[in-house]
Amino acid sequence: METQRRTDIGPPDFRKFLPPIIKSNYGKWKYHEIVKPGVMVHVGESGDRLFTVRAASPRLLGTKRIRKFSELADKYCGGYLRFTSRHNVEFLLTDESKTDPLIEDLAALGHPVGGIGPAISNIVHTQGWVHCHSAATDASGVVKAVMDDLHEYFDGTKQIPGKLRIALACCLNMCGAVHCSDIAILGVHRRPPRVQKGLNKTCEIPNVIAACPTGAIRPASVDGVPTVEIDEGSCMYCANCFSVCPALPLADPLNDGISIWVGGKVSNARHEPMFSKLAVPFIENDPPRWPEVVRNVRNIVEVWADGARPHERMGEFIERIGWPKFFELTGIEFTKQHIDDYRYAGLSYKRSAQLRQ
Ligand code: SF4
Ligand code: SF4
Repeated sequence: METQRRTDIGPPDFRKFLPPIIKSNYGKWKYHEIVKPGVMVHVGESGDRLFTVRAASPRLLGTKRIRKFSELADKYCGGYLRFTSRHNVEFLLTDESKTDPLIEDLAALGHPVGGIGPAISNIVHTQGWVHCHSAATDASGVVKAVMDDLHEYFDGTKQIPGKLRIALACCLNMCGAVHCSDIAILGVHRRPPRVQKGLNKTCEIPNVIAACPTGAIRPASVDGVPTVEIDEGSCMYCANCFSVCPALPLADPLNDGISIWVGGKVSNARHEPMFSKLAVPFIENDPPRWPEVVRNVRNIVEVWADGARPHERMGEFIERIGWPKFFELTGIEFTKQHIDDYRYAGLSYKRSAQLRQ
């Protein structure tokens, strides 16, 4: 029985926005297949066919670009489009003959089509320096540089064994799915917040203490003025305290940068979902084209593309060949930062003598 909404809080009911073909075939799709790079068809039990054209978007979109997308949706598919969780824009067409003209129009606008099935999809990313106060690195700039380098894996020019999902989060609060992506680019701070004078006039000290997830902040007094002190050994540079108190800035041009993680996935196919693990501990911020990040990501993509079996995700590939082999193939140096020192780390340590080389 359909439940009736009794509140106007929260997002509107999604069913209001479904294209008619999806409404009438809801739960009754027979199969789907990839027609060509970036184009997929869903076939319903009724015989209805729905064509999806997936194009890359830069995520941070201006109103002019959104209007352009809307014009294309009006022209080709009754005004229906959607954004995927990785910020691709998808046009939902019922007329197959319109897919090629739509792809041409998208290309003219500078949006390549691809990213479906065994391909690198758009990179999901966070706010970066543009928007967020806790960012340790940029987001859109890094993603643009990485995807400019890898777009041949998006548009199908180069084949890869399976899906490869890349994500970027600009600090370890990870607004951007980096814990569960095949390759994760993660901004890291390496110094604790600096306690500024006059903190007691700007911030509620009990709130600041309560904001710290690791209990690293203690009340203190300097020259009789109430303030806080930070236990550096307990700080994980998460910036939660800075979120509630601007007198605890964390950004540090010398010590902020990027780490790269590998092997996460959300899918249940073949293997249960996996968390990403550290591959490259630190790369200096190097805008505007981020050459070291681009080089490292490409290196990892190529090692996986050369060695993975069909449909094998990054994490499954590494699990099969073993982490020592992964470090050997990628040439990434194994450092002390790779050793998990979290209090429950014992659970993740290798506990058998069967090591693969
Ligand atoms: Fe802000 Fe961190 Fe989220 Fe980036 S990942 S948007 S810095 S909270
Ligand atoms: Fe605590 Fe995070 Fe602030 Fe460090 S950065 S003191 S861990 S809230």
